[in-house]
Amino acid sequence: MTTKQQKRTDISTLGEFGLIERLTADLKTLRSTTMYGVGDDAAVLDPGGQMILISTDLLLEGIHFSLVYTPLKHLGYKSVVVNLSDIYAMNAEPTQVTVSIGVSSRFCLEDLEEFYNGIKLACQSYNVDLVGGDTSSSLTGLNISVTVIGTALKEDLVFRKGASEHDLICVSGDLGGAYMGLQLLERERKLFEEEMAAQKSLEGHEFIIARQLKPEARGDIIKLFKEHDIKPTAMIDLSDGLSSDLLHITRACGLGCHIYADKIPIADATRQMAEEFKIEPLIAALNGGEDYELLFTIAPDDYEKVQAIQDVRIIGHMTHTSNGNKLMAQDGTAVNLQAQGWKHME
Ligand code: ADP
Ligand code: MG
Repeated sequence: MTTKQQKRTDISTLGEFGLIERLTADLKTLRSTTMYGVGDDAAVLDPGGQMILISTDLLLEGIHFSLVYTPLKHLGYKSVVVNLSDIYAMNAEPTQVTVSIGVSSRFCLEDLEEFYNGIKLACQSYNVDLVGGDTSSSLTGLNISVTVIGTALKEDLVFRKGASEHDLICVSGDLGGAYMGLQLLERERKLFEEEMAAQKSLEGHEFIIARQLKPEARGDIIKLFKEHDIKPTAMIDLSDGLSSDLLHITRACGLGCHIYADKIPIADATRQMAEEFKIEPLIAALNGGEDYELLFTIAPDDYEKVQAIQDVRIIGHMTHTSNGNKLMAQDGTAVNLQAQGWKHME
Protein backbone atom coordinates (compact mmCIF):
# COMPACT_ATOMS: atom_id res chain seq x y z
CA MET A 1 0.00 0.00 0.00
CA THR A 2 3.04 2.26 0.18
CA THR A 3 4.29 4.18 -2.82
CA LYS A 4 7.58 3.44 -4.61
CA GLN A 5 10.89 3.43 -2.74
CA GLN A 6 9.24 3.55 0.69
CA LYS A 7 10.63 1.39 3.45
CA ARG A 8 8.55 -1.71 4.13
CA THR A 9 9.03 -3.36 7.52
CA ASP A 10 7.73 -6.88 7.86
CA ILE A 11 5.13 -6.94 10.68
CA SER A 12 6.42 -10.29 11.92
CA THR A 13 9.69 -8.62 12.97
CA LEU A 14 7.75 -6.51 15.48
CA GLY A 15 5.33 -8.97 17.03
CA GLU A 16 1.89 -7.98 18.30
CA PHE A 17 3.02 -5.77 21.15
CA GLY A 18 5.81 -4.16 19.12
CA LEU A 19 3.28 -3.35 16.41
CA ILE A 20 0.80 -1.81 18.87
CA GLU A 21 3.62 0.23 20.39
CA ARG A 22 4.68 1.56 16.99
CA LEU A 23 1.15 2.47 15.94
CA THR A 24 0.28 4.20 19.19
CA ALA A 25 3.66 5.69 20.20
CA ASP A 26 2.90 9.35 19.48
CA LEU A 27 -0.76 9.40 20.46
CA LYS A 28 -1.54 12.54 22.38
CA THR A 29 -4.53 12.90 24.63
CA LEU A 30 -6.70 15.80 23.52
CA ARG A 31 -9.66 15.41 25.87
CA SER A 32 -9.44 15.94 29.59
CA THR A 33 -11.99 13.13 30.03
CA THR A 34 -9.47 10.56 28.67
CA MET A 35 -8.00 9.34 31.92
CA TYR A 36 -6.09 6.32 30.56
CA GLY A 37 -5.73 5.29 26.91
CA VAL A 38 -3.72 2.51 25.28
CA GLY A 39 -1.75 0.09 27.45
CA ASP A 40 -4.04 -1.73 29.86
CA ASP A 41 -6.94 -4.18 29.65
CA ALA A 42 -9.38 -1.32 29.14
CA ALA A 43 -9.29 2.43 28.55
CA VAL A 44 -10.67 4.65 31.32
CA LEU A 45 -12.75 7.78 30.75
CA ASP A 46 -13.54 10.27 33.48
CA PRO A 47 -16.68 12.18 32.52
CA GLY A 48 -17.21 13.27 36.16
CA GLY A 49 -18.75 10.91 38.71
CA GLN A 50 -18.17 7.24 37.95
CA MET A 51 -15.36 6.17 35.62
CA ILE A 52 -16.33 4.67 32.26
CA LEU A 53 -14.25 1.77 30.90
CA ILE A 54 -14.04 0.59 27.31
CA SER A 55 -12.36 -2.44 25.78
CA THR A 56 -12.69 -4.15 22.42
CA ASP A 57 -11.61 -7.47 20.88
CA LEU A 58 -11.58 -8.83 17.37
CA LEU A 59 -12.28 -12.51 16.65
CA LEU A 60 -11.62 -13.79 13.14
CA GLU A 61 -12.62 -17.16 11.74
CA GLY A 62 -9.57 -19.28 10.97
CA ILE A 63 -7.37 -17.11 13.21
CA HIS A 64 -9.09 -17.08 16.58
CA PHE A 65 -11.61 -19.86 16.14
CA SER A 66 -12.48 -22.80 13.92
CA LEU A 67 -16.12 -23.53 13.23
CA VAL A 68 -15.23 -27.17 12.65
CA TYR A 69 -15.48 -27.73 16.41
CA THR A 70 -16.89 -24.49 17.81
CA PRO A 71 -20.69 -24.48 18.08
CA LEU A 72 -22.01 -21.03 17.11
CA LYS A 73 -23.83 -20.62 20.40
CA HIS A 74 -20.57 -21.20 22.29
CA LEU A 75 -18.80 -18.77 19.99
CA GLY A 76 -21.35 -16.05 20.76
CA TYR A 77 -21.01 -16.70 24.47
CA LYS A 78 -17.20 -16.66 24.36
CA SER A 79 -17.08 -13.49 22.22
CA VAL A 80 -18.86 -11.60 24.99
CA VAL A 81 -17.09 -13.28 27.91
CA VAL A 82 -13.54 -12.53 26.69
CA ASN A 83 -14.46 -8.85 26.57
CA LEU A 84 -16.07 -8.81 30.01
CA SER A 85 -12.87 -10.32 31.34
CA ASP A 86 -10.91 -7.19 30.36
CA ILE A 87 -13.29 -5.00 32.39
CA TYR A 88 -13.08 -7.26 35.45
CA ALA A 89 -9.28 -7.08 35.05
CA MET A 90 -9.57 -3.38 35.93
CA ASN A 91 -11.61 -4.27 39.07
CA ALA A 92 -14.61 -2.74 37.33
CA GLU A 93 -18.11 -3.88 36.38
CA PRO A 94 -19.14 -4.45 32.75
CA THR A 95 -22.49 -2.89 31.91
CA GLN A 96 -23.07 -2.88 28.12
CA VAL A 97 -21.67 -4.51 24.97
CA THR A 98 -21.89 -3.79 21.27
CA VAL A 99 -21.43 -6.61 18.74
CA SER A 100 -20.31 -6.11 15.14
CA ILE A 101 -20.21 -8.93 12.63
CA GLY A 102 -18.93 -9.50 9.11
CA VAL A 103 -20.74 -12.51 7.65
CA SER A 104 -20.03 -14.49 4.49
CA SER A 105 -22.78 -16.07 2.41
CA ARG A 106 -21.93 -19.44 3.97
CA PHE A 107 -24.07 -18.51 6.99
CA CYS A 108 -27.86 -18.61 7.13
CA LEU A 109 -30.23 -16.78 9.44
CA GLU A 110 -30.55 -19.78 11.74
CA ASP A 111 -26.74 -19.94 12.15
CA LEU A 112 -26.62 -16.32 13.20
CA GLU A 113 -29.59 -16.72 15.52
CA GLU A 114 -27.72 -19.54 17.22
CA PHE A 115 -24.68 -17.27 17.54
CA TYR A 116 -26.91 -14.57 19.06
CA ASN A 117 -28.45 -17.07 21.47
CA GLY A 118 -24.95 -17.46 22.91
CA ILE A 119 -24.46 -13.70 23.03
CA LYS A 120 -27.79 -13.21 24.81
CA LEU A 121 -27.05 -16.00 27.27
CA ALA A 122 -23.74 -14.38 28.24
CA CYS A 123 -25.41 -10.97 28.56
CA GLN A 124 -28.03 -12.46 30.83
CA SER A 125 -25.69 -14.42 33.03
CA TYR A 126 -23.30 -11.46 33.48
CA ASN A 127 -26.06 -8.84 33.73
CA VAL A 128 -24.95 -6.70 30.78
CA ASP A 129 -27.05 -5.19 27.97
CA LEU A 130 -26.40 -5.60 24.26
CA VAL A 131 -26.93 -2.05 23.02
CA GLY A 132 -25.82 -1.99 19.37
CA GLY A 133 -23.25 -2.99 16.79
CA ASP A 134 -22.75 -3.15 13.05
CA THR A 135 -23.42 -5.77 10.39
CA SER A 136 -21.67 -6.26 7.08
CA SER A 137 -21.06 -8.92 4.47
CA SER A 138 -17.61 -10.52 4.48
CA LEU A 139 -15.47 -12.36 1.93
CA THR A 140 -13.62 -14.30 4.58
CA GLY A 141 -16.01 -16.19 6.83
CA LEU A 142 -17.21 -14.84 10.15
CA ASN A 143 -15.57 -11.78 11.71
CA ILE A 144 -16.67 -10.60 15.13
CA SER A 145 -15.83 -7.45 17.02
CA VAL A 146 -17.21 -6.92 20.50
CA THR A 147 -16.83 -3.73 22.50
CA VAL A 148 -17.61 -3.67 26.18
CA ILE A 149 -18.36 -0.71 28.41
CA GLY A 150 -18.08 -0.77 32.17
CA THR A 151 -18.04 1.44 35.23
CA ALA A 152 -16.03 1.80 38.41
CA LEU A 153 -15.39 4.25 41.17
CA LYS A 154 -12.05 5.93 40.59
CA GLU A 155 -10.63 4.63 43.85
CA ASP A 156 -11.50 1.04 42.93
CA LEU A 157 -9.64 0.96 39.61
CA VAL A 158 -6.69 -1.44 39.34
CA PHE A 159 -4.15 -1.08 36.53
CA ARG A 160 -1.36 -3.33 35.27
CA LYS A 161 1.02 -0.92 36.94
CA GLY A 162 0.81 -0.31 40.68
CA ALA A 163 2.51 -3.28 42.33
CA SER A 164 5.41 -2.73 44.75
CA GLU A 165 8.41 -4.91 45.55
CA HIS A 166 7.39 -7.81 47.91
CA ASP A 167 3.74 -7.72 46.80
CA LEU A 168 2.30 -11.22 46.50
CA ILE A 169 1.40 -12.57 43.05
CA CYS A 170 -1.95 -14.38 42.97
CA VAL A 171 -3.99 -16.20 40.36
CA SER A 172 -7.61 -17.36 40.30
CA GLY A 173 -8.79 -20.79 39.16
CA ASP A 174 -6.47 -23.15 37.32
CA LEU A 175 -4.29 -22.71 34.26
CA GLY A 176 -3.54 -24.47 30.99
CA GLY A 177 -6.98 -26.08 30.62
CA ALA A 178 -8.12 -23.98 27.67
CA TYR A 179 -4.86 -24.70 25.86
CA MET A 180 -5.12 -28.46 26.38
CA GLY A 181 -8.77 -28.30 25.26
CA LEU A 182 -7.61 -26.60 22.08
CA GLN A 183 -4.91 -29.23 21.48
CA LEU A 184 -7.50 -31.99 21.84
CA LEU A 185 -10.03 -30.28 19.54
CA GLU A 186 -7.33 -29.57 16.95
CA ARG A 187 -6.23 -33.20 17.03
CA GLU A 188 -9.81 -34.31 16.41
CA ARG A 189 -10.18 -31.78 13.59
CA LYS A 190 -7.10 -33.13 11.83
CA LEU A 191 -8.24 -36.72 12.23
CA PHE A 192 -11.64 -35.73 10.92
CA GLU A 193 -10.12 -33.96 7.91
CA GLU A 194 -7.88 -36.89 7.14
CA GLU A 195 -10.94 -39.14 7.53
CA MET A 196 -9.04 -41.50 9.72
CA ALA A 197 -11.18 -44.45 10.70
CA ALA A 198 -9.98 -44.71 14.29
CA GLN A 199 -11.02 -41.37 15.71
CA LYS A 200 -10.33 -40.77 19.34
CA SER A 201 -13.37 -39.66 21.25
CA LEU A 202 -13.84 -36.35 23.00
CA GLU A 203 -15.87 -38.12 25.66
CA GLY A 204 -14.54 -37.86 29.18
CA HIS A 205 -12.69 -34.64 28.37
CA GLU A 206 -15.56 -32.24 29.04
CA PHE A 207 -13.57 -30.16 31.53
CA ILE A 208 -10.79 -29.01 29.20
CA ILE A 209 -13.14 -28.71 26.22
CA ALA A 210 -15.40 -26.43 28.25
CA ARG A 211 -12.35 -24.40 29.31
CA GLN A 212 -11.67 -23.77 25.61
CA LEU A 213 -15.18 -23.46 24.20
CA LYS A 214 -17.10 -21.95 27.11
CA PRO A 215 -14.78 -19.88 29.26
CA GLU A 216 -16.16 -17.76 32.08
CA ALA A 217 -14.97 -14.31 33.13
CA ARG A 218 -14.13 -14.00 36.83
CA GLY A 219 -16.67 -11.42 37.94
CA ASP A 220 -17.16 -13.61 41.01
CA ILE A 221 -13.58 -12.85 42.09
CA ILE A 222 -14.15 -9.10 41.74
CA LYS A 223 -17.18 -9.46 44.02
CA LEU A 224 -15.11 -11.42 46.54
CA PHE A 225 -12.46 -8.67 46.54
CA LYS A 226 -15.15 -6.24 47.67
CA GLU A 227 -16.55 -8.64 50.26
CA HIS A 228 -13.09 -9.28 51.72
CA ASP A 229 -12.03 -5.65 51.48
CA ILE A 230 -9.16 -6.44 49.12
CA LYS A 231 -7.89 -4.06 46.48
CA PRO A 232 -5.23 -5.66 44.26
CA THR A 233 -2.23 -3.44 43.57
CA ALA A 234 -2.03 -4.57 39.91
CA MET A 235 -4.15 -6.87 37.76
CA ILE A 236 -4.49 -8.37 34.27
CA ASP A 237 -6.66 -11.12 32.83
CA LEU A 238 -4.93 -14.22 31.48
CA SER A 239 -5.63 -14.17 27.76
CA ASP A 240 -2.12 -14.77 26.37
CA GLY A 241 -0.73 -17.09 29.07
CA LEU A 242 0.74 -16.68 32.54
CA SER A 243 4.30 -15.92 31.33
CA SER A 244 3.33 -13.23 28.83
CA ASP A 245 0.69 -11.64 31.02
CA LEU A 246 2.85 -11.59 34.16
CA LEU A 247 5.57 -9.88 32.11
CA HIS A 248 3.02 -7.18 31.18
CA ILE A 249 2.59 -6.54 34.92
CA THR A 250 6.30 -6.58 35.81
CA ARG A 251 7.09 -4.31 32.87
CA ALA A 252 4.31 -1.86 33.72
CA CYS A 253 5.48 -1.79 37.36
CA GLY A 254 9.20 -1.59 36.59
CA LEU A 255 9.78 -4.65 38.79
CA GLY A 256 10.82 -8.29 38.56
CA CYS A 257 9.10 -11.39 39.90
CA HIS A 258 9.64 -14.82 41.38
CA ILE A 259 6.95 -17.43 40.88
CA TYR A 260 7.13 -21.00 42.15
CA ALA A 261 6.45 -23.96 39.84
CA ASP A 262 4.79 -26.05 42.56
CA LYS A 263 2.33 -23.26 43.41
CA ILE A 264 0.88 -22.87 39.92
CA PRO A 265 -2.64 -24.34 39.90
CA ILE A 266 -3.19 -27.00 37.25
CA ALA A 267 -6.33 -29.17 37.18
CA ASP A 268 -5.91 -32.95 37.10
CA ALA A 269 -7.74 -33.16 33.75
CA THR A 270 -5.32 -30.61 32.28
CA ARG A 271 -2.33 -32.50 33.66
CA GLN A 272 -3.58 -35.80 32.22
CA MET A 273 -4.17 -34.40 28.75
CA ALA A 274 -0.78 -32.64 28.75
CA GLU A 275 0.87 -35.94 29.59
CA GLU A 276 -1.04 -37.65 26.78
CA PHE A 277 0.30 -34.99 24.41
CA LYS A 278 3.79 -35.28 25.92
CA ILE A 279 3.63 -31.64 26.95
CA GLU A 280 4.99 -30.70 30.37
CA PRO A 281 1.82 -29.59 32.27
CA LEU A 282 3.72 -26.59 33.64
CA ILE A 283 4.48 -25.44 30.09
CA ALA A 284 0.77 -25.61 29.23
CA ALA A 285 0.00 -23.52 32.34
CA LEU A 286 2.73 -20.95 31.60
CA ASN A 287 2.27 -20.54 27.87
CA GLY A 288 -1.26 -21.70 27.10
CA GLY A 289 -3.63 -18.77 26.64
CA GLU A 290 -7.35 -18.17 26.96
CA ASP A 291 -7.86 -19.24 30.56
CA TYR A 292 -9.44 -15.85 31.35
CA GLU A 293 -8.43 -16.17 34.97
CA LEU A 294 -7.29 -13.09 36.89
CA LEU A 295 -3.61 -12.55 37.67
CA PHE A 296 -3.10 -9.91 40.35
CA THR A 297 -0.82 -8.67 43.08
CA ILE A 298 -1.69 -7.75 46.65
CA ALA A 299 0.17 -5.98 49.44
CA PRO A 300 1.83 -8.50 51.83
CA ASP A 301 -0.49 -7.24 54.60
CA ASP A 302 -3.47 -8.66 52.69
CA TYR A 303 -2.04 -12.20 52.85
CA GLU A 304 -4.66 -13.48 55.26
CA LYS A 305 -7.56 -11.83 53.48
CA VAL A 306 -6.62 -13.44 50.17
CA GLN A 307 -6.06 -16.83 51.84
CA ALA A 308 -9.74 -16.73 52.72
CA ILE A 309 -10.74 -16.75 49.04
CA GLN A 310 -11.00 -20.38 48.05
CA ASP A 311 -10.35 -20.18 44.35
CA VAL A 312 -7.22 -17.99 44.55
CA ARG A 313 -3.62 -19.19 44.92
CA ILE A 314 -0.53 -17.21 45.84
CA ILE A 315 2.15 -18.20 43.33
CA GLY A 316 5.04 -15.84 44.06
CA HIS A 317 6.07 -12.28 44.76
CA MET A 318 7.30 -9.14 43.08
CA THR A 319 11.01 -8.39 43.31
CA HIS A 320 13.42 -5.63 42.39
CA THR A 321 13.83 -5.44 38.64
CA SER A 322 17.49 -6.50 38.95
CA ASN A 323 16.31 -9.99 40.00
CA GLY A 324 14.68 -10.53 36.61
CA ASN A 325 11.49 -12.51 36.02
CA LYS A 326 12.07 -15.97 37.43
CA LEU A 327 10.28 -19.26 37.67
CA MET A 328 11.67 -21.27 40.58
CA ALA A 329 11.54 -25.04 40.09
CA GLN A 330 10.97 -27.38 43.01
CA ASP A 331 14.67 -28.29 43.13
CA GLY A 332 15.55 -24.63 43.63
CA THR A 333 16.79 -23.95 40.10
CA ALA A 334 15.51 -20.80 38.41
CA VAL A 335 14.58 -20.18 34.77
CA ASN A 336 13.74 -16.89 33.12
CA LEU A 337 10.09 -16.35 32.24
CA GLN A 338 9.64 -15.55 28.59
CA ALA A 339 6.83 -13.94 26.65
CA GLN A 340 5.40 -16.24 24.05
CA GLY A 341 4.78 -13.43 21.61
CA TRP A 342 1.67 -13.81 19.61
CA LYS A 343 0.37 -16.90 18.06
CA HIS A 344 -1.98 -15.26 15.62
CA MET A 345 0.13 -13.09 13.38
CA GLU A 346 3.22 -15.08 12.44
P1 ADP B 1 -5.86 -7.58 25.84
O1 ADP B 1 -5.04 -8.82 25.60
O2 ADP B 1 -6.08 -7.28 27.29
O3 ADP B 1 -7.14 -7.53 25.03
P2 ADP B 1 -4.16 -6.25 23.93
O4 ADP B 1 -2.86 -6.94 24.11
O5 ADP B 1 -5.04 -6.64 22.80
O6 ADP B 1 -4.97 -6.34 25.32
O7 ADP B 1 -3.91 -4.69 23.81
C1 ADP B 1 -2.99 -4.00 24.64
C2 ADP B 1 -3.33 -2.51 24.61
O8 ADP B 1 -3.13 -1.97 23.29
C3 ADP B 1 -4.77 -2.18 24.97
O9 ADP B 1 -4.76 -0.99 25.73
C4 ADP B 1 -5.45 -1.97 23.61
O10 ADP B 1 -6.55 -1.09 23.70
C5 ADP B 1 -4.31 -1.35 22.79
N1 ADP B 1 -4.43 -1.64 21.33
C6 ADP B 1 -4.39 -2.85 20.73
N2 ADP B 1 -4.48 -2.74 19.40
C7 ADP B 1 -4.59 -1.41 19.12
C8 ADP B 1 -4.73 -0.64 17.92
N3 ADP B 1 -4.77 -1.23 16.71
N4 ADP B 1 -4.82 0.72 18.01
C9 ADP B 1 -4.79 1.31 19.23
N5 ADP B 1 -4.66 0.65 20.41
C10 ADP B 1 -4.55 -0.70 20.37
MG1 MG C 1 -6.72 -8.34 28.92
